[in-house]
Amino acid sequence: KEKAPDEWVRSTCGYCGVGCGLYIGVKEGDPVYVKGDPDHPVNRGTLCPKGLSEHEMVRAPSRLPGAMIKKNGRFEQVTWDEAFRVTSDAFKEIQAKYGKSAVACISTGQLLTEEFYTLGKFVQLGLETNNYDGNTTLCMASAVMGYKQSFGSDGPPGCYEDFSHAEVIMLIGANIADNHPILKLHIARNKKVRGKKPTIIVVDPRHSKTANMADIYLPIKPRTDLAFINGLCYIIWEQGWMDETFINERTVGYKEFIKDIQKYPPQEVAHITGIDVKRLYEVARFYAGADAAMSAWTMGVNQSAMGTDTVSAIVNLALMTGNLGKPGGSPFSITGQCNAMGTRESGFTSSIPGYRNFASAEDRREYAEIVGVPEELVPTSRGFAYPQIIEAIERGEIKALWVVATNPLVSYPDQPRLRKALAKLEMLVVQDSFMSDTAELADVLFGAATWSEKTGTYTNSERRCNLAKKSVPNYKDSKSDFEIVVEFSKYFDGKYERLFNGWSKPEDAFEEWKKVSKGRLCDYSGMTYEKIEKLGGIQWPCNDEHPEGTPRLYDEGMKTSNAEGKPKFVFADWFPMEENICTAFPLILNTGRTVEQFHTRTKTGTIKILEDLAPEAWVELSPKDAEKLQVKSGDRISLSSPRGRVDDVIVRVTEVVGEGTVFVPFHFNEQLVNRLTQSLFDPKSFEPNYKQTAIQLHSE
Ligand code: SF4
Repeated sequence: KEKAPDEWVRSTCGYCGVGCGLYIGVKEGDPVYVKGDPDHPVNRGTLCPKGLSEHEMVRAPSRLPGAMIKKNGRFEQVTWDEAFRVTSDAFKEIQAKYGKSAVACISTGQLLTEEFYTLGKFVQLGLETNNYDGNTTLCMASAVMGYKQSFGSDGPPGCYEDFSHAEVIMLIGANIADNHPILKLHIARNKKVRGKKPTIIVVDPRHSKTANMADIYLPIKPRTDLAFINGLCYIIWEQGWMDETFINERTVGYKEFIKDIQKYPPQEVAHITGIDVKRLYEVARFYAGADAAMSAWTMGVNQSAMGTDTVSAIVNLALMTGNLGKPGGSPFSITGQCNAMGTRESGFTSSIPGYRNFASAEDRREYAEIVGVPEELVPTSRGFAYPQIIEAIERGEIKALWVVATNPLVSYPDQPRLRKALAKLEMLVVQDSFMSDTAELADVLFGAATWSEKTGTYTNSERRCNLAKKSVPNYKDSKSDFEIVVEFSKYFDGKYERLFNGWSKPEDAFEEWKKVSKGRLCDYSGMTYEKIEKLGGIQWPCNDEHPEGTPRLYDEGMKTSNAEGKPKFVFADWFPMEENICTAFPLILNTGRTVEQFHTRTKTGTIKILEDLAPEAWVELSPKDAEKLQVKSGDRISLSSPRGRVDDVIVRVTEVVGEGTVFVPFHFNEQLVNRLTQSLFDPKSFEPNYKQTAIQLHSE
């Protein structure tokens, strides 16, 4: 009763890519409750445990109070002027001595689109370094590159409603019960919408909570999903189950693809994947025989050295079976962070904002004209991606790093190597709302406002742009990421005037972003904050033709962005794992997440109920492996790989994991599992191969 809110502010959850609508209850300037928005089309009033307790992190003691500088090994709060002066002087000195690209920036899908766009514009056109990337590269860069290969552009073709319309739903490397729990609502509606239950196929080496809802569970061998999908395509071709009309009229590259797919007969695929031939035929028959079938995936596919090609393989399966641009038929990537999509479109990372190509003179000219900057200022190529930035720091080419709202010292693979690299920097600036492992290492901290303290937009996995609203004052002297970037730009001669003249609020950035995206696939030009709020989010493209947005891309009348204007079959070969198990490291480690925690716990680690529910990491071990090691549930053991060791991890003996494989969640810095993972990346997307690490267990 004491905490009954004075007002409820309509907003959007700031954690995952589902993008749930909610209300923030505010009392005397503090957020005291959160409740689901019953009118929001994504979640219809429901929220997961993280969303329901989101207000509790806003006033956590680990919040950064404002600008801070490390003096004699301790952080001291300073004025923003001092922090901006010290940082800008250091950046200028380093750039004068080593060149513009000696400064790099790593950002995040936790920022609002307005903030991400503003930051990218400042780094690329103000600091004039193209060494800029987001932690989204650790998360869904493979989906981006896979879509680009197949459609000529990024952009998930489907939407959540497809879960309610599909006759067959294949979840591949996607543990939605833990990571995107609200999506189950849309699957639950399927029977009501279609009058009968869908067939749910779950493909995952681990029998996750999501596998409990499967009609067919396929315990695939780790990282063999590309061979599995190629095998399904082979069977569909062999049996003549493909949709020839769709293939002939709506796609390109089929003939060449079919020649290549001959390398994946079912016997060979069964050997690679561990899924028997009969099952492969059964799944192919269900998928190809359905009126509408969808494949949805997350990190099990993306976080792999062959993630990009696996995404294109999933698109191939959709194209062969005519599952594109229709209700229930789509190859659908589910994103990790609340604004992973907004940053994909508006960021200046793997493309010029609005899905424009660095290499295209026309695209560069167009962007420069819209925003009124000299064309020569727009980079002609992408700079280093996230892992390449770390390698350039190792080589001594990058001397200053600006890390915004991300915590590499928990989330990046091969931590021993990362720590050594960061120690070589001359300047580390961390901009975050919370103290973190990475923030501890910084020279300067820019203390940022967090969710509920700022206004702007997040775009979720289904391209739905939602409004998140400021409902409470900023914590102490913190500033929003938008304010920090705009004010920091004033410390560089003429940059504010050139890039942000007159900008005072996030909506100024949103208005420019609307102009930049107009006429592009990711068209936001028909949106306003009021309209977004009224409609419960709007799916791009939204323009004069589609004033209320577009649920699905690539229906019959819509061209793709590649030269052919049609989706393309893109074949790729599966190859064996690089890091093979051996006597010294005989088990395969798989990492993932749990519903109670979000990423590196800078936020959820401050919330008592979530910490009580999931206070530490655990290792899942099969009964046979537990017997070999002579351990039982509740014992504590150590894990080691060629890179490092993690101690004091509690054992859960369970048949959820198969013999020879173990699972550990990655959130916990106390049991930092990324000490073990490898520096191995997808060569096209640069996404890390987090999922399959050869390890050893030690019971003493
Ligand atoms: Fe927030 Fe995701 Fe949970 Fe929805 S499912 S409440 S967006 S964390």
